[in-house]
Amino acid sequence: MSWQPVDCHAHTNFSDGALTIAQVVERAASLNVFPSVADHISHDVARAVDSVEAAREYIAALEEYDVLRGGEFCWHDSLWRELPDDLVARFTHRLGSLHAIRLPTGGLVHAFSRRLPGPITPDDYMWAHLESLETLAREMPVDILSHPTLVTLSFRELPTDELWTEEREERMVEALHASGIAFEISNRYRPHERLVKRAVERGVRISLGSDGHTLAQVADIAAPLAMARRLGVRDEDIYDPRRHGSKTAVRA
Ligand SMILES: [Zn+2]
Repeated sequence: MSWQPVDCHAHTNFSDGALTIAQVVERAASLNVFPSVADHISHDVARAVDSVEAAREYIAALEEYDVLRGGEFCWHDSLWRELPDDLVARFTHRLGSLHAIRLPTGGLVHAFSRRLPGPITPDDYMWAHLESLETLAREMPVDILSHPTLVTLSFRELPTDELWTEEREERMVEALHASGIAFEISNRYRPHERLVKRAVERGVRISLGSDGHTLAQVADIAAPLAMARRLGVRDEDIYDPRRHGSKTAVRA
């Protein structure tokens, strides 16, 4: 059996979620994976750790357990820029994500809203999405891009190949490679294999994430692990901050 870290993205009791850290630890042990908790830390997401003070309490609580201490930060939100260095240094690793992308006009398109600010085609959206992703990769000192293929609700049902053309896949993979950010195979928002294969072939590190918000979902990385192995990724090369380090250490 595997013994991999997994970014549970667990919505623990810190963000008013259903799970306690103890439950996440127990569940991970039962699935034979090493737990990594990465609650959402943002001013702009419901039920998130939403202030510097709350992030301090969150990290202090995680330090009581044998878990990796992660956090998922929204690129479009300011909270990740506000964390003081001494607090950043207490994270074992950090994740960045696009819960909103910025349009050239300055407006935001949120991932979990159906409202679009004006008539926007899927091509317009994807162009802006890639621009935001490239900016995230340049700006954010994170180790992992969470759920890399998540797009806004209005376009989420479109065929993967239409949204993620090979040219767009190329842009994403190059941005991650240049910044040393790992590609997460999310169990919740599963990427298509062609894209993951492209990332692996370019030498982008792979990370496994359950993005689990309930006891049944948390720490379940069976499908992402199977995909990584199918593409020839060795278990020891799957992102583990204990083995591969983290950008948080640079600031410690
Ligand atoms: Zn997320």
